[in-house]
Amino acid sequence: MTHDTENASASGTGLKIGLIVVLLAAAGVISYRHTRSDLEQPDTPDTASTYVCVECNAAIDLTAAQYAKKASEDRENTKPLGELRGYSFLKCPTCQKYGVIRGARCPKDGTPIPQQTKDGKPGRCKKCGYALIGE
Ligand SMILES: [Zn+2]
Ligand SMILES: [Zn+2]
Repeated sequence: MTHDTENASASGTGLKIGLIVVLLAAAGVISYRHTRSDLEQPDTPDTASTYVCVECNAAIDLTAAQYAKKASEDRENTKPLGELRGYSFLKCPTCQKYGVIRGARCPKDGTPIPQQTKDGKPGRCKKCGYALIGE
């Protein structure tokens, strides 16, 4: 009566393969989700930051996702500008130059201030002289 034994062992193997497939699928879903969350930047208003053009002082607000997209589009055209090394510049929608870096608006009068000026000095408000980075 070897017939019954063979059947039992065959169905046992089938169960094992089924279990492995389920485990692999679960692992695949987990790693897929993990990779997606690593690549995708949040696109919510609370992740928005102000970027300011050192050429014309125009300000643009970009969420983390918008910045990542724009930075990857502009990356090949961006080059060090004046003394500002180590910055990656975005293309300015106002003057079309690659002069947009991280900045903020003056807390007193709302004037856009780039983190640094074109000659590598800390950014200051053009209206009231407020220093963006503490001296
Ligand atoms: Zn500009
Ligand atoms: Zn000011």
